[in-house]
Amino acid sequence: MTNIEHKLYIDTVIRRVETARLKVSGHHIVKIVAVSKYSTAQDIESLYSIGQRAFGENKVQDLKSKSIELDEYPLEWHFIGNLQKNKINNLLDIDPTLFQALDSLELAYELQKKLAAKDMTLDCLMQINSAKEESKHGFMPQDAKESYLTMIEKCPNIKLKGVMSIGAHSEDKETIKKSFETTYSIYKELPNATICSMGMSDDFEMAIECGSNMVRLGSIMFK
Ligand SMILES: *Cc1c(COP(=O)(O)O)cnc(C)c1O
Repeated sequence: MTNIEHKLYIDTVIRRVETARLKVSGHHIVKIVAVSKYSTAQDIESLYSIGQRAFGENKVQDLKSKSIELDEYPLEWHFIGNLQKNKINNLLDIDPTLFQALDSLELAYELQKKLAAKDMTLDCLMQINSAKEESKHGFMPQDAKESYLTMIEKCPNIKLKGVMSIGAHSEDKETIKKSFETTYSIYKELPNATICSMGMSDDFEMAIECGSNMVRLGSIMFK
């Protein structure tokens, strides 16, 4: 694609986000995080040149190399992948804008320790396994609220901003929708939560209509 074709193509994605958010309300603002995990630094540069600022990666090593390579640009980096305990310090060295996949109390306690040692804080989202799938990480819906409150109490260096979830792995739209509704209903119950991150390339419109205000778009943004 030429630059102009790319811009026109991205405009169609943005228009789809617009249409979905306006169905909720004119005041419902949705942020697009471009998930660059399958893309190169050059692809990111090209999206930056047409206005995209927030990017997401799911491997600490990739986040590190791309953020170093693109250091000259004012980008916002989101870490959206499963974080192994032995990679926590590497992630903290990068100091991302938002860690979206805080998926267990055990990880939270370890993260808290390392944050306190470095005298820093980190904005995080609690990942919810809303469809209770074996293949997915995250807190079970029935434990989510209590665990969120526990983390607020016991992990002062973790600044919880809301929730993240991946839609149910299903062909059935109702099943996917139900998983988004589960996440949204938990989000509404949490104190001071402002970010509900759900929706990917294949299901972002439905996620927005269920209340998502942050979509993580990979394949559709980097065509
Ligand atoms: C890869 C990934 C995405 C983006 O997926 P697409 O279907 O390519 O839009 C979003 N969220 C998470 C957690 C991911 O790992």
